[in-house]
Amino acid sequence: MPRPNARPYKNPGKMVIAVALSLLIYAVFFAGCVLLAMLFLFQETQYGIWFLGALVCWVVLLFTRYLHAHSCICPLCRGPLMRKQNCGMHERARRHLGFHYRTSMLIDIIVHWWFCCPYCGTHFRMKR
Ligand SMILES: [Zn+2]
Repeated sequence: MPRPNARPYKNPGKMVIAVALSLLIYAVFFAGCVLLAMLFLFQETQYGIWFLGALVCWVVLLFTRYLHAHSCICPLCRGPLMRKQNCGMHERARRHLGFHYRTSMLIDIIVHWWFCCPYCGTHFRMKR
């Protein structure tokens, strides 16, 4: 449910890019799994070449997201929103069942267009 008292996030474009990169990474990973299964089922070199292409694309996307994640920070607590930290999370941090905090944040942005910072528990909305 959308939070009416959520603060506006200063730079929503950066979070949209992070969400798009993450979705692309999941899609390329799924395509790579399918191509690997087809390679073992049909024993054709063509699927192996496509799988290697998907693997290279996946690594490039992971590196791009890693570089982009440095610019996605919480404006209040300066916590890195798209990077994994080993510190403790806030007690109000939102986490969906079976997902990590970062993935839960991505789901909240896609579905509700707001997210909760896992480090300070503040709710941010993407539109002003
Ligand atoms: Zn925060």
